[in-house]
Amino acid sequence: MGSKEIYCSTCKKKLGRYNEKYFSDDRLNAIIANNHTQCIREGHNVIILRP
Ligand SMILES: [Zn+2]
Repeated sequence: MGSKEIYCSTCKKKLGRYNEKYFSDDRLNAIIANNHTQCIREGHNVIILRP
C-alpha cells in the first residue's frame, strides 16, 4: 500500500505523509487548506506527490 506526500516545493519541505487508501486528493487538498495555511498564504507551490 502506497502513500502520498504533501510537499511544498517553495520551502523544499515535506509537510505530511498519508496512506493513499484513506486519503483522497480532495481530502489532502482540504488538509493543505486547513493545516498549511502559512505556505498557502505566502503563495507557495504546495503539491501532492504520489508513490
Ligand atoms: Zn512553503
